[in-house]
Amino acid sequence: MIGPLPYLRETPSQTAGPYVHIGLIPHQAGFDIFENNFSNVLVGPETQGERIRIEGRIFDGSGSVTKDFLVEIWQANAAGRYRHRVDQHPAPLDPNFTGAGRCLTDDDGNYRFVSIKPGAYPWKNHENAWRPAHIHLSLFGRSFTQRLVTQMYFPDDPLFAQDPIFNSVPDPAARQRLVSTFDLEATRPEWALAYEWDVVLTGRDATPLDADEH
Ligand code: FE
Repeated sequence: MIGPLPYLRETPSQTAGPYVHIGLIPHQAGFDIFENNFSNVLVGPETQGERIRIEGRIFDGSGSVTKDFLVEIWQANAAGRYRHRVDQHPAPLDPNFTGAGRCLTDDDGNYRFVSIKPGAYPWKNHENAWRPAHIHLSLFGRSFTQRLVTQMYFPDDPLFAQDPIFNSVPDPAARQRLVSTFDLEATRPEWALAYEWDVVLTGRDATPLDADEH
């Protein structure tokens, strides 16, 4: 006989300090993260690839912008390879690109990164399986219960149709909220293309969560 469902209380929050660096980007264990200064500029003058700016705002479910949100990103390099020991894709590593960055949203909820467009990479999920170009993001609010892990994609990627991770979000409109918009106005002449991508943490228009961390 099955009894009534137990009522589970939320696990209390605890501070992440003083060893914050250990807890940050936890699925990055194994990345060469400590050579990265974790700024929001992931590129130097020698970094290979198509330079991009990624900008957007983070909203809560009521439509208010969220300031002081920690946004962390990690991504493959322009050749489609992560600087990670388990990534054996035979594409070159770039000594001038770690693929990890971080910033805080400003008072208007804006975040901003300068990076390179990541390459597609194969992942053996099915025959000839390639992930569309994407950037992984982790967003921390003022407690761990406000964390969102997701992926941002680029417009019109021909690999969308065959990617089970992208298509794991069943609602087409929700899937589209994972795709950034090319922003000609924010594009810097002679420097970098720009993409805009807003995040909604909760509610009807929430940005879908990542079902798989690949
Ligand atoms: Fe990935």
